[in-house]
Amino acid sequence: MRHSGLLGSRLKAREADRRKDWIEKTSTDLARRFDVIAVEDLNVRGMTGSARGTLERPGVNVRAKAGLNRSILASGWGRLVARLERKAPGRLVRVDPRYTSQTCNACGHRAPGSRESQAVFWCVACGHRANADLNAARNIRDTAVGGTVAARGGGAPARPVNREPQPTLLSS
Ligand SMILES: [Zn+2]
Repeated sequence: MRHSGLLGSRLKAREADRRKDWIEKTSTDLARRFDVIAVEDLNVRGMTGSARGTLERPGVNVRAKAGLNRSILASGWGRLVARLERKAPGRLVRVDPRYTSQTCNACGHRAPGSRESQAVFWCVACGHRANADLNAARNIRDTAVGGTVAARGGGAPARPVNREPQPTLLSS
């Protein structure tokens, strides 16, 4: 019993190390590669309560990395955002996540029914179909750049020459 308890705490410590490492690497990588980093402004406490809720809208870049260890993302979100704030000062945009998963990124129509499943967005108005994470992430990006969900018109924002043009889309 004592032995397994010790083993358990060792595993926990190692998990915490991995999480910290992932957060440092990810935040450095994102800050280096992107001009604007949009994150959903989430209640971190609510997020950590549910790994599934945390992963509902992970965004484009973090999603790929999150596949490495979803639990790391789930429990490290608050810290990741804090590190991004330090490493990308003035370039982190917090976006109200409301409706980002229900709004069509193609036409702007908002309807809960467009969320066909956890994975698929299918607009009831225009028929636009997309990966649900990607659709939501694009709404978050557009909100960060344009001010409101599905703000349309006015053309694309000016693209910086030397860096990746597209913002990184983080969410949870
Ligand atoms: Zn639509």
